[in-house]
Amino acid sequence: MRYSQLLITTAKETPAEAEVISHQLLLRAGFIRKLTSGLYTYLPLGLAALRKVERIVREEMNRAGAQEILMPMVQPADLWEESGRWKQYGPELLRFKDRHQRDCCLGPTHEEVVTDVARREVHSYRQLPVNLYQIQTKFRDEIRPRFGLMRGREFVMKDAYSFDASEEGAEESYRKMRDAYNRIFKRCGLEFRAVEADSGSIGGSFSHEFMVLAKTGEDTLVICQSCDYAANLEKAKAAPPVKTEDSAAMLDCVKVATPGMKKVDAVAAFLGLTARQVIKTMIYVADGELVAVLVRGDREVQPVKLKNLLGVTDVELADDDTVWQKTKLPVGYIGPVGLPIKFVADQEVMLMVNAAAGANEKGFHCTGVNPGRDFTPALTGDLRQVTAEDCCPLCGGSLRLTEGIEVGHIFKLGTKYSAAMNATFQDTDGQEKVMIMGCYGIGVSRVVAAAIEQNHDANGIIFPLPLAPVQVIVLNLDLKNAAVTAAAEQLHSELEAAGVEVLYDDRDERPGSKFKDADLLGIPYRVTVGKGVEKDGTVELRSRRSGATTMLPLTQAAGEIADKIRVELAAAVGE
Ligand code: ATP
Ligand code: MG
Repeated sequence: MRYSQLLITTAKETPAEAEVISHQLLLRAGFIRKLTSGLYTYLPLGLAALRKVERIVREEMNRAGAQEILMPMVQPADLWEESGRWKQYGPELLRFKDRHQRDCCLGPTHEEVVTDVARREVHSYRQLPVNLYQIQTKFRDEIRPRFGLMRGREFVMKDAYSFDASEEGAEESYRKMRDAYNRIFKRCGLEFRAVEADSGSIGGSFSHEFMVLAKTGEDTLVICQSCDYAANLEKAKAAPPVKTEDSAAMLDCVKVATPGMKKVDAVAAFLGLTARQVIKTMIYVADGELVAVLVRGDREVQPVKLKNLLGVTDVELADDDTVWQKTKLPVGYIGPVGLPIKFVADQEVMLMVNAAAGANEKGFHCTGVNPGRDFTPALTGDLRQVTAEDCCPLCGGSLRLTEGIEVGHIFKLGTKYSAAMNATFQDTDGQEKVMIMGCYGIGVSRVVAAAIEQNHDANGIIFPLPLAPVQVIVLNLDLKNAAVTAAAEQLHSELEAAGVEVLYDDRDERPGSKFKDADLLGIPYRVTVGKGVEKDGTVELRSRRSGATTMLPLTQAAGEIADKIRVELAAAVGE
């Protein structure tokens, strides 16, 4: 491939619209171009990188026994009515009508369509298990499309769906996908973690996310330093609370003036208590209804845990005005004693003794507040956010918090869709039974962005070899020199003949800008053909990642480079 003939425009300046490094570098390196918010065109090298991810994903899905299909992107509303998601799915679902006024949507995910395929095609236990996957463009009308390929409205996803006859079978299918995902991200050359995750709007009982570790990740991961425990912060379990306060006698609940003191710390200091002796009461809007949430004063509410405990689809912190208008309760002075709205409590709160809490009257708190005696929440559970100071819920070891980018997500769905849509099969005993499902997604285009977030330096991208759009770039440093040009041309064809993906920089540009572009594009190996060829018949090989250089005789260069690449790719597969 000749650089001079490739559609590629690189830029020195950092585009103002791009906040994160992968977005900046994808634009600067000429890999993608924005059409409009959340929609991108992949230019040749960008597409080449995307295809690399696709290929690894496809190979590993096939190896795990999944079968590739391709479903339509436009989906009829009827199927979504059947599953109950037509109303439930938020505005990310792009709904529209066709010319016959039939409701349709653009597929953000394909549980409905694939369940329809299964109920039509699968009738007997003999056809199970089956795992169907596709690699396809999804559309989600994201509220904040941003960070380039990281959160687009249109993006490429690999989605797979397994159907099993039994619970054990479904667990086996899940395990196979988990193994396949581990192989996929390992082969991509990425540093990643599988973490316990929330199942979100897809529903179901159990799930893991695959996270690429990178500072710009939108997710926070909780990782145990001693055992295998790793979870998304949204899901990370708090270790069961222990009652630390000795069984002091319960004091009377009394109202005290706390003028102007709306924050936990101020209240605690004023009353001569610590923050952990104060009950913090936060008001949320849960699917339109106000709900108060109690946590210890030194804790934070974890909204996803709250959502799951309440069994609602959306929770959001209520603003002070809404609370006042709807309840006449003064935010900052709200507490559980005599609270007129529904309230739930973190499990730790139930162990507090003689706590302080808002008195539901402006400028007043109560002391001597005791759960059970003075208030009873509608529900209690693990509602607080875990912190780095917490202990591992499994082994008691210390925890580390780190950022991650979600590149894959696997779910055990159970019968949520198959029951709703009547996807049944005849079992060995002749009985009609509902199929048990799992679903498994990979953000193929997001993987490209995540790889860059994790692998770059001040000069540009540093592609892991398995994902690089090309493996080697050959720089001709002096086009006018016949010997140099002949050597560069020779190396280019020899590398191609050896099966190496090579880009030959045959442009009439200064060496400096060729070096800069080679670095920016992130091509793992650079071969410089210059004066050395004439002097002693050598070319310079440089690793983009380590910066290490070696001189190779021109006659052996192609063979040695091809071997090096073969060895390195095999190592990534673990073979
Ligand atoms: P997120 O929490 O990042 O919004 P999600 O949990 O909604 O993602 P899933 O439904 O699990 O996403 O989709 C499977 C995979 O598709 C995700 O793990 C992610 O890698 C990718 N993905 C999801 N939304 C986007 C998007 N807007 N742009 C690019 N990739 C995406
Ligand atoms: Mg997800």
